[in-house]
This record gives sequence, structure tokens and C-alpha cells, in this order.
Amino acid sequence: MPPSISVESTTLKAFFDEVALLLGEDNISRDHSHGALTGVLGQTTYGDAFSKADTNLPAGAVRPKTVQEVQEIVKLANKHQVYLWTVSRGKNLGYGGTGPVVKGTVVLDLHRMAQIVEINEEYGYAIVEPGVSFFDLYEEIQSRGLKLWPSVPAIGWGSVVGNTLDRGFGYTPNGEHSQSQCGMEVVLPDGTLLRTGSGAMTDNTTWALYKGGFGPNLDGLFFQSNLGVVTKIGIHITPAPEAYATVEVDVPLESDLVPLVGTLSDLMRRSIILNSPSIANIFRIALTSEKPEVLCKIGPYMRADSCVPYDLLEKIRVEQKWGFWRAYFSLYGSVEMLPALKATVERAFKQAVPGVQFSYREWAGSPGVAISAAEDIKTEVVPHSGIPTVEPLGIVDSRGERGGGHICFSPVIPPSGRELYDWYLTAKKRTADAKFDFFADFHVYPRYVIAIDLVIYTMSEEERLYELYRQLMHDAGEQGFMEYRTHINWMEDVASKLDYNNFAFGKFVQILKDTFDPNGILSPGKSGIWGTGQRL
Ligand SMILES: Cc1cc2nc3c(=O)[nH]c(=O)nc-3n(C[C@H](O)[C@H](O)[C@H](O)COP(=O)(O)OP(=O)(O)OC[C@H]3O[C@@H](n4cnc5c(N)ncnc54)[C@H](O)[C@@H]3O)c2cc1C
Repeated sequence: MPPSISVESTTLKAFFDEVALLLGEDNISRDHSHGALTGVLGQTTYGDAFSKADTNLPAGAVRPKTVQEVQEIVKLANKHQVYLWTVSRGKNLGYGGTGPVVKGTVVLDLHRMAQIVEINEEYGYAIVEPGVSFFDLYEEIQSRGLKLWPSVPAIGWGSVVGNTLDRGFGYTPNGEHSQSQCGMEVVLPDGTLLRTGSGAMTDNTTWALYKGGFGPNLDGLFFQSNLGVVTKIGIHITPAPEAYATVEVDVPLESDLVPLVGTLSDLMRRSIILNSPSIANIFRIALTSEKPEVLCKIGPYMRADSCVPYDLLEKIRVEQKWGFWRAYFSLYGSVEMLPALKATVERAFKQAVPGVQFSYREWAGSPGVAISAAEDIKTEVVPHSGIPTVEPLGIVDSRGERGGGHICFSPVIPPSGRELYDWYLTAKKRTADAKFDFFADFHVYPRYVIAIDLVIYTMSEEERLYELYRQLMHDAGEQGFMEYRTHINWMEDVASKLDYNNFAFGKFVQILKDTFDPNGILSPGKSGIWGTGQRL
């Protein structure tokens, strides 16, 4: 559905002219062609790098460095009635990158606001600005020799703030970033500066320690929303453990997904496993195996309009003695705890899944000595110790062409494994029928699973991809599931499913939007939220 709002070029010019006086011409872009952080193909354009369509092209960008500049910019946006789309580092690949929902919106790019305000080793937290990347935080921790393992997503060049606000995740015990966030500073649409939680009291020293504050908890209003521009967050960080083991659990049969997920989530509810296990299927195991004999077999199918046949994948699985599914997680604890944790995990899986296999990398540790991720662990397939990398970016080129993309269809599903398996069977068939490969990236939590069908595509396949996405959305809706996060093109559709009591949720958010952002200047259409009169 094309949005109805548009901005005259003379209005945009007047806005850019005034912002240029504030930031300097170097820190604005009067079109989308330059100024963004360097992307996958070395480009610095704004927009969705994973799309060839021009429907989400921004009109340009502004790049403030200070909170005061952000305050001034939102005031100017109100004055000129120009729309802003906030990004922190704009690396939201698979979800629209720096592309706004509405063509012609100006990107409010916060990557120059890159101060690490505080890192507290004793209590395990940091306070950061939006431009701080996962690499920046990790490197600062290393350079100060702090015994902390910060959580990082599979690729580390994104923003701690941006990723957290879109409910992104990493892989240490504090990897559920929206849950590890504690304390927030926000510029409201009229330029007012707000601090949440204990930060509401000047100089309160528990701002990044105690999430509650006094009275209503406001932080949730600024996740996946367009009610403010977040300029700082506190984030809790896992202390480096004394003993550590990475674990891979392979289960042979496709239907073993049920006991695999049921066992993992039970071990999480009992706090035996502390970080979120991720689960790969046989396609992903083969694609990322780096084994020449495997890559040689799937290679001919890795191209546009094609997918790898499951009978070939089964042949490879048997030859390689792999599971159909592989779960990756780690065990964190003391020297005394690690052997007990391992024994508990093995017992649980052996009882649940015949033919289960385990593989470990283990650091038994020394009493009182924290393990250094950088020196002791170095590289990991999944960054359970928080070492950032950008290596997984390579998968987008795996269909035989440089410059591919991926999109994640990611419903939230109960964690028994049964519901997930039912959903998976349908989604797998839809994906294969559309001639794409099902790259499973399932993330298990104690009480839910985020089930990602990560679809890699070439730019010539975009239309077919959207057909598939539409179908996956429809199926998941029928099964009663919704996505945890979505691409800019699907936000409206996900929001349209929130129908309880005659769309009471959306109506409540609408009141907030109209009250705090009466001109609707912030990120129109984000998560299906618009100012009154903006939507067709
Ligand atoms: C190969 C690959 C692997 C990936 N693996 C993961 C993974 O493991 N985990 C994961 O979570 N993601 C993953 N991603 C997706 C994505 O790359 C990351 O989530 C990335 O961190 C998001 O970009 P960013 O942090 O720069 O956020 P941004 O693009 O800056 O922000 C994301 C969104 O949050 C909102 N926002 C940002 N900043 C603000 C602000 N200051 N105030 C208000 N709203 C704001 C905006 O709507 C924005 O569009 C992966 C992507 C690829 C290509």
C-alpha cells in the first residue's frame, strides 16, 4: 500500500539548508547517493542494499554528533514538516538497511554519535551512544583488559543501540539485547530530553543497574517504534567465566527437531544452558561446512531459480555423519560447575534423542582466573564468547552472484518443538516450491523460539521472494504466530494482525503517536505506526 505523505523539494531544501548551518554541509546528504557507512559492496548510498526497487529510497540524510544537535534537528523537522527515519549505524540488513518505509523520508543517521559513556567491569554493563558498534565496544573492552564478554550478533559492524531497539540478539548469556537493556535516554519528537528508569532522577547511580525505576516502565515505548530518538542505552554484559565449553549437538532425523528443541528449552528454563542455542538444518550445515567435497556437490544448485534437492542433502548427511539438525550453544561457569553442566546436558539429550552426537571445545579453566575470549578462544562458529566478525556476510553471495541479499521470515513460536515442527514443515515446502533454499536459523529461549527461515536470493529473484514472504506470513497468521521483527515492506502487514478487541493495541499506540508526535515527523510507518491522516 503506497503511503500518502510527500514532501515538496523546496521544503526539503529549506530543511537541509537550516540543518547545514547546524552540522556543516559535510554532515548532510541532499540525496541518497552518499554519506552512509560503507556497505557490503563498498557502497555508501542510503536505502535497502538488498533490493533493486526504488520504493524505499530516502530523500537524503542528516548526521548529528551530539544530543543537542538531535534536539535541534527534530525541531527543524517539525518546523518544515519533513519526515525523519532514525538509524543508529544503519546495518539492519535483511530488514531494510537504512531504507525508510516511506520514499522521500530523510535518514536521521546517528553513526557519528559514537561515545562509549561508561563501561563498568564490576557490575557488568556499559552505557553507549547509537554510533557505537559491537566491534567498538569489544575493542574498548580488550584495550582496557576488562574481564567482560559483550554480546554480539553474527555480524559485528551494527550498532549496540540500533540492534537492541529492533529486538536483535547476540549469543552470550546476555544475548537477548532487549532484555539486557537497562536505562535509556531519548529525544522526544518535540526535542524534549527524557531519561527512563532510575535515570529519571538526576545523578542516580543505578540507571544502568535497575530496570524498574519508579512508576510506569517507559523503555518499551521506544522499541520498534517511532515515538522518540534514543540517544543512549545501558546494556548488561556477561562477566568472563572461569570455565567454558562450546557445544554442538547433532540429531539425525528431521523429526528430531521436536525433542531437540524441547530438551534445549527445558535446560534453559532450569538455567543449565544460559545462552540462546541456535539451530541449523542440513542445508545450512552443508553450505557453511567449507568442505570442498560437499560444496562441490551442492555447487551446481547454488544459483538463481534453483534449490538444493533434499535427497542430495540426505546423501551428504549420511556420508559426512552429520545430523539433520545441529544446535550450537555454550556452557559458562566455574571450574567445579563445568563437568557437572556437561554431564547434565549429555544425560538430557541421550534420554531424549537416539543417535544424538556431541562435539565440544572446552576450556576447563583455573580457579579464580577469567578466560580471555580474545587470547584463549579466538574464533568461533557462533560468537558465544562475544568476538565480533563480519564473516557470515558472505552467505548473501552464495547463489552464484556477488550482490545478493537475504530476508528473514521469523515467527515467534512456543518452545516445545512440536509447534515449531508443524510450522517448519509448511514453511519448508513453501520455500522449496518457490525455488529457494530453507536456511534454518532457529533461536531457542526458555519460553519461545524465534524460528528464522533465512532466504538468500539474487536481485533477479526479488519478486518471487516477495510472493514467498506473503505466503509465509499468511500461513503463520493462520497458525496464530507473528514475527518478532520484520522488513520495512512488511511492517504494515504484521501490524494488521494485532486485532485483539477490535485493534485496541494499535488504537492505544495511535493516541501516543498523535500526542507526542502530532506532526508525525518520526519514522512514519515504522511497525505500522503512522500519524493520523498519514496513512491512505
Ligand atoms: C549475515 C547476517 C547476519 C546477521 N545476524 C544477526 C544476528 O545474529 N542478530 C541480529 O539481531 N541481527 C542480525 N543481522 C541483522 C542486522 O545486521 C543486525 O541486527 C544489525 O545489528 C542491525 O543494524 P544496526 O545495529 O546498525 O541497527 P540500525 O540499522 O541502526 O537500526 C535498526 C532499526 O532500529 C531503529 N533505530 C535504530 N536506532 C534508533 C534510535 N537511536 N532511536 C530510535 N530507533 C532507532 C530503526 O527503526 C532502525 O531501522 C544479520 C544480518 C546479516 C546480513
